Amino acid sequence: MIAPRLEIDLDKIRHNATVLAARLRARGVAVTGVTKACMGDYRIAEAFLSAGIGTLGDSRIENIEAIRRENATVPITLIRSPMLSQVDRVVAHADVSFNTELDVISALSTAARRTGRRHGVVLMVELGDLREGIMPGDLAEIARRTRRFPNIVLRGIGANLACQSGVSPDAGNMGELSRLADGVAETFCPRSGIVSGGNSSNLLWAFGAPDIGRINDLRLGESILLGQEPLHRRAIDGLYVDAFTLVAEVIEMKSKPSQPWGEIAQTAFGKPAFREDRGDVLRAILAVGHQDIDPAGLTPPAGIELLGASSDHLVCGTGGSRVAVGSEIAFQPNYSALLRAMTSGSVTKIFSGDRKRLHAPCGLSCAEPQSSAA
Ligand SMILES: *Cc1c(COP(=O)(O)O)cnc(C)c1O
Repeated sequence: MIAPRLEIDLDKIRHNATVLAARLRARGVAVTGVTKACMGDYRIAEAFLSAGIGTLGDSRIENIEAIRRENATVPITLIRSPMLSQVDRVVAHADVSFNTELDVISALSTAARRTGRRHGVVLMVELGDLREGIMPGDLAEIARRTRRFPNIVLRGIGANLACQSGVSPDAGNMGELSRLADGVAETFCPRSGIVSGGNSSNLLWAFGAPDIGRINDLRLGESILLGQEPLHRRAIDGLYVDAFTLVAEVIEMKSKPSQPWGEIAQTAFGKPAFREDRGDVLRAILAVGHQDIDPAGLTPPAGIELLGASSDHLVCGTGGSRVAVGSEIAFQPNYSALLRAMTSGSVTKIFSGDRKRLHAPCGLSCAEPQSSAA
């Protein structure tokens, strides 16, 4: 079979999305299904939608355009501040975008007016993780000025934590977001305004907090796709953690000394790892590497040990047993490995559980929509 490949179980993704959306709905929180790890692949978007998720979010306009080619009406939010050079595409294809700069909002307004559209804006607030966000003290003024732009609708506020600095969502920062939402309530409808609390790392807080305040939306990618929460990377009860499997093919199988010989300098990717002397070990080389996956993000099956990787080779210890050249080894990817595999043109994507026949290519360079028909 073709390798390397990423096997994607849409039924498991649909299950995870259904469970998370229902649990959050019970707390009054809607889910924005984030498709960026999958380049806006419509089969995955469709799994989110059929699980009852009403809004999609992606950080890249080209992914949003890929979804638009399949679905003209689903609400889509651009969850990264638009590039000034892309505002025309943003207002054409995204209903809402996350914003922190008045210059960008002004350009969105101009672009929306030119094409007779209205574009929604969610203002992102900095709560300590030091990625995107307006400083809290500036929010009221920027909200006021945002409201003055023609063809712009202030839809709400949001925050993002645990991405850049690992700051955890908690009662303190989520309480602050709720208070800020109260503060700007008079500038947008208090009932329907979006208060988007964050990403998958908000789930522990959202399920555990006695009071979630005004937070009424979370943007979920990793937790749906991988069934785990990103703060401690623990599995979430009742979810599948194996919706994605990375399969690679063995191209060399030899017994070699466990330590390199010769003068040691740098490797292709920096400092070499120290290897203790274990005598000769059986090593398999697989035809997959940094270009296709994040090697550190692969969990091998029992008995297989990751020894190293370069651009195109993954070296594994096989625990004393021989695996045949031409055979395959399957790994569980973490978010980092998944992101790279999904966006690599040399990893073929094989979907199962596909409920919709595509009528157009989905935007992934090498993804043949093959259904292993469940
Ligand atoms: C990527 C991203 C998300 C989704 O994060 P997950 O951890 O995959 O749930 C949400 N919001 C923003 C702004 C993002 O960039």
